Amino acid sequence: MAKHDIVIVGAGISGATLAERYANEGKKVWILEKRDHIGGNCYDYVDPAGILVSKYGAHIFHTNFEDVWQYINRFAPWRPYYHKVLASVDGQLVPVPVNIVTVNKLLGLHIKNSAQMEAWLKGAQIQFTSPKNSEQVALSRVGKVLYEKLFRNYTKKQWNKEPAELDALVLARIPVRNDFNDGYFSDKYQALPAGGYTRLFEKMLGHPNIHISLNADFFQKRQEAQNCEKLFYTGPIDGYFNYSLSGGKKLQYRSLRFEFETHNKEFYQSNSVINYPNTEAFTRIVEYKHFTGQKNPRTTISKEYPSDVGEPYYPLPSPENLDLYEQYAKAAAKLKGIHFVGRLANYKYFNMDQAFKNALDLFTGLT
Ligand code: UDP
Repeated sequence: MAKHDIVIVGAGISGATLAERYANEGKKVWILEKRDHIGGNCYDYVDPAGILVSKYGAHIFHTNFEDVWQYINRFAPWRPYYHKVLASVDGQLVPVPVNIVTVNKLLGLHIKNSAQMEAWLKGAQIQFTSPKNSEQVALSRVGKVLYEKLFRNYTKKQWNKEPAELDALVLARIPVRNDFNDGYFSDKYQALPAGGYTRLFEKMLGHPNIHISLNADFFQKRQEAQNCEKLFYTGPIDGYFNYSLSGGKKLQYRSLRFEFETHNKEFYQSNSVINYPNTEAFTRIVEYKHFTGQKNPRTTISKEYPSDVGEPYYPLPSPENLDLYEQYAKAAAKLKGIHFVGRLANYKYFNMDQAFKNALDLFTGLT
């Protein structure tokens, strides 16, 4: 392997952003990617039915970061996509986050405006001065009844923990609305790359200064890889240290198993994502054609089964894991010439735009 200035472990959002930025500065970049494809968990592909699907679950981009929005628009046209989610509860499909329609349908009420909704919320909400865990967050936003119907069991399935055992940030992701707004996100920019994520990453990584090794294990090529100006590591932080600070015990992640099904009908369900908080072993069904607007007489869906084993997707924010992460972060901060970046290396539940933002800011800070 020829000498490279920059070595990057992982070709997901963080790795691809840093690679693109450094390559454009004239640096020679070598990416080592463990999987057989680029794009990290955003990777999508066309399935045998001809439908663009995501290998690791739906990725819906949304941001308020102006610089991130400008940046990603350099590599692909983005199609506006305004995400909505429905949950199947008590035999009905209701909007998530909770809005007026959710409350009316689930509780048989006739709330007509924001003032009435505010009054209803005030009666239902349980006050905490500062919610310390995900149960308290949900109770303080929607009250006990809706917490039980929409959030408690979904969260138990998804995380294999009671919401009370999880950091507040998990359920703080889901707001509550006092109106009829049924958007899942509130960000200024909500869009999907018109040709899919894989194509976006191909464009980002297409620079002649970037060399990508797929199926490449950094730990096997460590000698070679460390011979560079800067190293960026986007894998699990404890793995970098061979789990040595915790006597071999790993930081915990939740994973997902996807069951894909193709059906001989144009659409399987009325919405891109339908959540199943209380019934079913899966948490949600995603139907990809709703994202892309693709025309096809058939349709592909995936059912998401949360699991302890499999690819690390979600850092599990329990107090023990967060403490252990802090120990690794301290050890990492003492190392010279290596930067830990992204969801796995920071053990944080980043959204896609935060991953872009952190990588861009790191690059700016370093150059
Ligand atoms: N959640 C829930 N019920 C729902 C949707 C979400 O309880 O119908 C909880 C669950 O704990 C989940 C968290 O809210 O992990 C965050 O949801 P989000 O949709 O942001 O999860 P992601 O898309 O990142 O899997």
